[in-house]
Amino acid sequence: MTASQAILKGIAEDGGLYVPTTLPEVTLDWEVLQNQSYQEIAIEILSAFLTDFTKEEITACVHSAYDTTFDTKEIAPVKKVGDRHFMELFHGRTIAFKDMALSILPYLLTTAAKKNKSDKEIVILTATSGDTGKAALAGFANVPHTNIIVFYPKGGVSTIQERQMVTQAGDNTFVYGVEGNFDDAQTKVKELFADKELNATLAEKGFQFSSANSINIGRLCPQIVYYVFAYAQLVKDGTLAIGDPMNVVVPTGNFGNILAAYYAKGIGVPINKLICASNENDVLVDFFQTGTYNRLREFKLTSSPSMDILVSSNLERFVFELTGRSSDTTNALMTSLKENGSYSVPNTDTALFKQFYGNRASQEETAQTIHDVFKSEHYLLDPHTAVADAVYAKYKKETEDATPTVVVSTASPYKFPQSVLSALDVDTNQSDAELMNAIQQESGIAIPTAVTSVLDAPIRHTKVLSIEGMKQSVLDSLNIQ
Ligand SMILES: *Cc1c(COP(=O)(O)O)cnc(C)c1O
Repeated sequence: MTASQAILKGIAEDGGLYVPTTLPEVTLDWEVLQNQSYQEIAIEILSAFLTDFTKEEITACVHSAYDTTFDTKEIAPVKKVGDRHFMELFHGRTIAFKDMALSILPYLLTTAAKKNKSDKEIVILTATSGDTGKAALAGFANVPHTNIIVFYPKGGVSTIQERQMVTQAGDNTFVYGVEGNFDDAQTKVKELFADKELNATLAEKGFQFSSANSINIGRLCPQIVYYVFAYAQLVKDGTLAIGDPMNVVVPTGNFGNILAAYYAKGIGVPINKLICASNENDVLVDFFQTGTYNRLREFKLTSSPSMDILVSSNLERFVFELTGRSSDTTNALMTSLKENGSYSVPNTDTALFKQFYGNRASQEETAQTIHDVFKSEHYLLDPHTAVADAVYAKYKKETEDATPTVVVSTASPYKFPQSVLSALDVDTNQSDAELMNAIQQESGIAIPTAVTSVLDAPIRHTKVLSIEGMKQSVLDSLNIQ
């Protein structure tokens, strides 16, 4: 299996996830890297992981993804605030970190299709609970030889999230509200992916399904890049001498972002602790404290919704490492998760396991953090980043570890205006446009065009379907009779 085939397939036929056979040998020359652009570092790192892509192919993908779609030249600016650095991963088109990978995935996918001599157009199907849908739409819009179809639960996403999706431009974008909850839509999408008759019809008309899901290795590899970039920035600003350790704190849901940090460490970025921050859905905290993963618990809706997850799919890839890279043992543990709701890894007394530290922040602690950091340091956090910063404070108090630390900022405060403003004791009983103005007034940060463009844009997608209607809507979108 080559890298391009793994990206095209997304998930293996037996339901397992693809991982690199071995980690690539990369020469990380920090003297050079500290003066390189994000794009230059991306080309280096992605070429090392995606071994069957040529350097020219990777270069083209990287420039298409990052040159014009971010609102800052640095792509992932690293800012010192008090005793830590924040790496802002929210300067792409949907002002959240999923843009880092979903801006490049469409180009990796179409390149992969070409390399594998597929002459078919790619059709991405996605069910979304809000954030991923928009980031995927923005990434795939108007990319030649691709189509993207997104289903969201009508009434089950925030008004801003719905507006972001239904105003999406691009002749190859299709957005449908469905009468059902996210799980219903997600289950149906999985069924459609596996529908032999539908796949055959599509193939006959020149189409093939592919997945933009966060378990696609084509989403993981681009996330390794910014950890290399962060270390290079800390060397450049003199915080670190070359070779000094750095901690990272990652607000975690599906375990994709922090897993990329683990791989970055694997190729030689001097990362000390991988600090895994959870909200009240703290299944990973218990895992890192006990070695037992147990999803049988109450699902909580919190102010950091992108971390409201009880099954962190990407953890499977770390479990594979913990079992000494045994597919059989990993498979047995994942089967136990499905059938019994839990599993325990055999040995937690290892350096491999202990490089992770897990802790949680409640909703009250999250709001308090947004409030305190803004009042005392004049830096405005979104609730996801605030969970990470609250956990970092706990870690530091507990361990007195003074290693320079990067807190990964996964969303702009503009993406979650209600929670941010109520943490600042501002009245939130206002329209979306007024809330945006209030954030601008408080923070002095200009309203991102990602927000203003959505507030004024015309609505292009209005169809609402039953779950049963989803299959026909795929055919209709692609103009198949
Ligand atoms: C998706 C998301 C996360 C969680 O990232 P994982 O890779 O799923 O752990 C955190 N914050 C924001 C804003 C997100 O959109």
